[in-house]
Amino acid sequence: MRTIEQFLAYIPLRLRLALWFTGALGAILLLVGVFIYWQTQRTMLSQIDHALELAAVQATLNIESREDRLVFQNLDENRIQEQHLDDDFVVYLLSPNGAVWEKLGNNNQEPVYTTLPAGYASRKEHGEAWRILSQEVAVNGIAGNLQVRQDMELLENALKDLRQQMALGLPLALLLAGLGGFWLASQALQPIDTMTRTAQAITADDLSQRIGHRGPADEIGRLAQTFDGMLDRLQTAFDRERRFTGDAAHELRTPLTVLKGSIGVTLRKPRDTMDCMETLAVMEGEVDRLIRLSNDLLFMARLDQKQLRLGREWIELEPFLGAVLDQIRPLAMAKAIRLEETIPNDLRVLGDIDLLIRLFLNLLDNAIKYTPQAGTVQVSATQTSGQVEIAIRDSGSGIAAAHLPQLFERFYRAEADRARRPGQNGQGGAGLGLAIAQEIARAHGGRITVTSEVGVGTTFTVWL
Ligand code: ATP
Ligand code: MG
Repeated sequence: MRTIEQFLAYIPLRLRLALWFTGALGAILLLVGVFIYWQTQRTMLSQIDHALELAAVQATLNIESREDRLVFQNLDENRIQEQHLDDDFVVYLLSPNGAVWEKLGNNNQEPVYTTLPAGYASRKEHGEAWRILSQEVAVNGIAGNLQVRQDMELLENALKDLRQQMALGLPLALLLAGLGGFWLASQALQPIDTMTRTAQAITADDLSQRIGHRGPADEIGRLAQTFDGMLDRLQTAFDRERRFTGDAAHELRTPLTVLKGSIGVTLRKPRDTMDCMETLAVMEGEVDRLIRLSNDLLFMARLDQKQLRLGREWIELEPFLGAVLDQIRPLAMAKAIRLEETIPNDLRVLGDIDLLIRLFLNLLDNAIKYTPQAGTVQVSATQTSGQVEIAIRDSGSGIAAAHLPQLFERFYRAEADRARRPGQNGQGGAGLGLAIAQEIARAHGGRITVTSEVGVGTTFTVWL
């Protein structure tokens, strides 16, 4: 059994399917064939037996005794012959010890069976098969033996034909079925071949290959679709990763270029302490930026790798948001921005307090950063069906609708040239703030949405 399995494992699947199919069909055809053969034989034999019985009844009615033997009385030989229309039909009337008293029928060569028990029997003689009905008869105390017999050539021939047809038809049917099965299996498996070739053609550099299976959404169709879908996701992930690396390198290079420039300018000629202090202050700003950037990157890497262990504690929203607002207040005061809060004091959320501080600091930092002098920033919270909804609304510049879909992507900035201007501490963000905020919200099973109108203001809503 094991060796058969091992052997089968080397045969291509389409051939294996065709073989199984043909084998099963062969077994079924064989069974059906045997049944038909047996059934035909039985029916024909019972027809012969019936004819024999009729003849026997007719013959018995016409037996009479003459002296010490039995004879057929005015039995018209031709009538039996006509009724049975058969040269190979013979009627014997025998004495108990087997001597022939009477015989009807043309066939002369056949032997006489004296020892037959009463009933039906099949005998073969000189290559001819006979069906014989043997009966005891007695008239006026004289006993004899009536034998009615028929040549079974017809039946034998019919069965022989049947056997020949089967012996020819079965292999032919199996051959056709095998070929058909192989063709069907090949058709069905062809998309899998395509998939294999596609998968082989895929490298990390070229994820653009697709199977593009056109056909019904059956098992194969679904597999092909799943495969294509997986490739789509892979490609998106790869593209994002590539863009991310490029953006990160770019973000790192900008402050480094500024640092390098400042150092170069300062070193060109001797400077007094004041000059040096000024340059160092600029340099410190850039270094701060670098530190912030690397912290953000590190933080995101941890989030991606799910390395951050999320604290879970109940946080009272009102004091919590109050403290966050206090942290940001100096920035707001510097731009004369009014901070308003409407937070019911019975709201609580479950989560990691450090991460949530970071989330709201990022959103509030943006709100203040992108709101001009003397604007307002409102923070409000409400409870809606098991969720807490915290909205941060500003009266700032707003964001064009075209930017909204990508806003939460890493390094994405709506107004790239303004924000990327180096040297402006605080203003030159990297575009990671919203990405981080969104990741934190997701880690808490929540999300952040944004609505904005250019020139009117922006509202970020956190659902927790
Ligand atoms: P970082 O937060 O990393 O210092 P950033 O603030 O530029 O940099 P994000 O916080 O991710 O980056 O914000 C992405 C972009 O979305 C910003 O560059 C800005 O163009 C836009 N944006 C975010 N918040 C607001 C807001 N309240 N009003 C207008 N534009 C905003
Ligand atoms: Mg930001």
